[in-house]
Amino acid sequence: MIEIVSDLHTHTTHSHGKGNVEDNVKAAIDKGLEAVAISDHGFSHLCYRVKDIDRYLDDIHNAKEKYADKIKVLSSVELNLVSLDGDLDMPEGYWDKFDLTMFGYHKLSGYKDYKNFMYFMLPGSKTKKAVARNTAAYIAAIEKNRPSMISHLGYGLPVDKVRVCEAAKQYGTAIEINAKHPDFTVEQLRACAGTGVSFVIGSDAHSVSRVADFGPAIDIAQRAGITAGQIINAKHQTQEGET
Ligand SMILES: [Zn+2]
Ligand SMILES: [Zn+2]
Repeated sequence: MIEIVSDLHTHTTHSHGKGNVEDNVKAAIDKGLEAVAISDHGFSHLCYRVKDIDRYLDDIHNAKEKYADKIKVLSSVELNLVSLDGDLDMPEGYWDKFDLTMFGYHKLSGYKDYKNFMYFMLPGSKTKKAVARNTAAYIAAIEKNRPSMISHLGYGLPVDKVRVCEAAKQYGTAIEINAKHPDFTVEQLRACAGTGVSFVIGSDAHSVSRVADFGPAIDIAQRAGITAGQIINAKHQTQEGET
């Protein structure tokens, strides 16, 4: 049985979630989690970006202090892939201000230039033929930026998931199994696990009621034979008992 002890992917009103930072933290406490990350959308997205990054970090910091005796609150962000060269949309000087970082592909991001805008917005980037190029972009993003994790791998942009997992394993980046977009077949997930990469299970909650809602992600992980030991935010057992 896989039991998840922290939700490392939740959104708030700072991007397009429905609850504020404290609402998500309180929901996570109610669900008995040990930690919750606030991970709103990165900074170039045309509709959903965090607009005031300093106020965002202040809100998370305040919740961190206020609820320190009840839960660990982590500052995170879901950055956007904005070029085929693996660029992400973190503003300069902010990488060190976050406890965790992740990235994914989201359409309508602020692509680096016109060429990338045309590539990612046109249907060609979503075809089988584009897989090699998309995969190279993901791998470049890992190598250049060393993010903590990748959100909903394969959602919105087809990639060779196993090759991305090989690179992620090499650089210590975890791969999310996302409960909102569990875009893996059992076979794919098994093949990804075969690379030795670590996984994270995230709710991708955009409403307070979905914080800690991991059902579909746990289901596919279990069907693929993934064990708690391969999932960073699962409860781990030792020979002596719980850790
Ligand atoms: Zn996302
Ligand atoms: Zn998300």
